[in-house]
Amino acid sequence: MIRTLPLVCSRCGKEFKPEHQIYYQDDYIAQQIRDVKFVCEDCIRAWKEKWQIAQADFAEQDYVLTVTITLADGTVYKNMDCTPNEDTEAVVTGEDIPAEAQQRLYGFYKAWRDEQASRQLKDCFFQKEENGRLTATLTTYGGEHYEGVAVSRGEGGELVTDDELPGYIRDGLLVALESYEAQEIMLDTRVKPRSQNAPTTMKRRQNRGQWPSTYQPFNGSH
Ligand SMILES: [Zn+2]
Repeated sequence: MIRTLPLVCSRCGKEFKPEHQIYYQDDYIAQQIRDVKFVCEDCIRAWKEKWQIAQADFAEQDYVLTVTITLADGTVYKNMDCTPNEDTEAVVTGEDIPAEAQQRLYGFYKAWRDEQASRQLKDCFFQKEENGRLTATLTTYGGEHYEGVAVSRGEGGELVTDDELPGYIRDGLLVALESYEAQEIMLDTRVKPRSQNAPTTMKRRQNRGQWPSTYQPFNGSH
């Protein structure tokens, strides 16, 4: 049986004449050709024009990457789950986005990812001063440098340091502090039983041998 199918756009409701190809909306419940949601070229053009990305802000939490997109016309899509694809250099989101906009979004993603990487701590040295005050000197991969920042733990165990420090520096500093504290505990339990009767000079030598020279300030305080 030969049938005919009028081409009606599922978006604007107008009949249309396709040129070389027909656009349609992916729809897994469509079982017959008349269920297919066609989209006319005028609507496709309008869709492409709408998707001029002015700003894209990425965020990562618990390994879930989301993006908030602001279009040139002011439309905002908030916290959409998204997946970057390194091979195609495009970012796919829950929203239907033209391929050109997916690629532009990848540009924003790349800039964001590079910035994240540059904010990681490259090194962080702790120094315990004579009055027991602990300070940290740190550098990020991006070259930001902070010298002799006072560091301590609050009553609830929270990090207490210079309030002016950016959040990402504080985050990195907390991780470094935890590692420093763990090493300090390890050093105490390792050295104490053996060094109880050992002369002070020997104790010092043991400390030096056990720890890499990068932790020199730490060794120096013992
Ligand atoms: Zn249309």
